Amino acid sequence: MSGDESLKALYSKEELEFKTEIQAFAEERIRAFDDEIEKMNSYEPIRILMREMGKKGFLGPLHPPEWGGTGQGIVADCIVAEECARINEAFELSRIANISLFGMPIHRFGTDEQKEKYLTPIIKGEKIGCIGITEPRVGSDTAGMETRAVKDGDYYIINGEKRFITNGTEADFMCCFAITTPLPNVHPKKGMSAFIIDTKWKGYERVKYYKLSGLRGARVGHIRFNDLAVPKENLLGPENKGFSILMDELNSERVGIAAQGVGIARAAFEEALKYSTERIQFDQEIRYFEGVSFQIADMAIRIEAGRALTVQAARALNKIGNKAATKICTMAKVFTSEAAVYVASRAMQVLGGIGYTSEKKSERYLRDAKILPIGGGTTEILKYLIQREVYREHGY
Ligand SMILES: Cc1cc2nc3c(=O)[nH]c(=O)nc-3n(C[C@H](O)[C@H](O)[C@H](O)COP(=O)(O)OP(=O)(O)OC[C@H]3O[C@@H](n4cnc5c(N)ncnc54)[C@H](O)[C@@H]3O)c2cc1C
Repeated sequence: MSGDESLKALYSKEELEFKTEIQAFAEERIRAFDDEIEKMNSYEPIRILMREMGKKGFLGPLHPPEWGGTGQGIVADCIVAEECARINEAFELSRIANISLFGMPIHRFGTDEQKEKYLTPIIKGEKIGCIGITEPRVGSDTAGMETRAVKDGDYYIINGEKRFITNGTEADFMCCFAITTPLPNVHPKKGMSAFIIDTKWKGYERVKYYKLSGLRGARVGHIRFNDLAVPKENLLGPENKGFSILMDELNSERVGIAAQGVGIARAAFEEALKYSTERIQFDQEIRYFEGVSFQIADMAIRIEAGRALTVQAARALNKIGNKAATKICTMAKVFTSEAAVYVASRAMQVLGGIGYTSEKKSERYLRDAKILPIGGGTTEILKYLIQREVYREHGY
């Protein structure tokens, strides 16, 4: 937030400098394409921006220098997520699906050959990745996955369907999860494997992309695999260990989504703040009505709290490891995604009637924010995980 001195207590000097740099890029370059992405519902600017960010090293914080990353870590990536989401969440959703959801499993479990072939090009912004978990009949209950991969000589033959796949119709590569050893032999958690798919391969069918409530320009697709032959060297990690690869990716995804929540909330807040100083009713700026200014205060509190929790979760991931950080990462995702919806809704209220029209952006921020408590684990599922940890910590 401009003029927010408290940020100095939250971030290191290097992180603050990086934040200034990425904010300037987002303000100039993402802003330049914002209307085209939103009004034309166009993916092309997303590709252009991904290439520009790749060249500048902005897609690199999560990944090590040996594969083309910058090795800055997840706090820096959250800074990128927040600043990008503040300008355009469709772009940011595409970026996180690419660099984190696809990139992290390759980074953490890929062989050197796999990293060189599939990770480095996405960090450079030359190629785009996606992750394929969700299916028509399988959402929150990922272990119930139905997509099958059957070993046949040097290949795995994949059949099944994935839906709601961000970048799915546009991506060059997919990290895809499928069942290799089905029930009744083993539980799906122990019979799932991960594969790296090149979307040019025969059998990768782009069925459609969904018309979304918000996130115009993002491409969230339905994909069908028709006897898709994946060479055995594209198995990611050991066979039947896919569920732990899937679980491993989730915390970085949750923290990234939390940062997106802060970004969207800031955008909505800034529009409402400005409007409250311009709109005159009863002979004064509406900011002087407590009914308005207290809403501004409520928004500001949630933004600060959300960012602090997000940064704490990101630092916890580095410091105490993935498993131990699950509770705080999950809390950050739940809190900021709900806060973003709250703030966007309050912002629309402050704007009154004009806020409900497309003349202003608050109606878009509300539509965009609504994905956050759904994607990457719904608030309900995540609260289940949080309470389980809380009871366990207290010895129950
Ligand atoms: C824009 C968008 C982008 C996405 N991107 C991707 C992507 O890139 N890759 C990917 O694999 N997936 C992606 N998804 C899928 C997303 O992760 C799922 O939509 C989400 O996990 C919820 O699954 P579902 O939609 O099937 O809902 P369901 O699981 O069917 O849930 C429906 C409702 O029931 C509730 N519910 C379900 N089980 C329980 C329970 N045990 N306790 C309490 N409540 C419960 C849920 O909270 C929800 O309110 C995306 C979705 C969207 C909309």
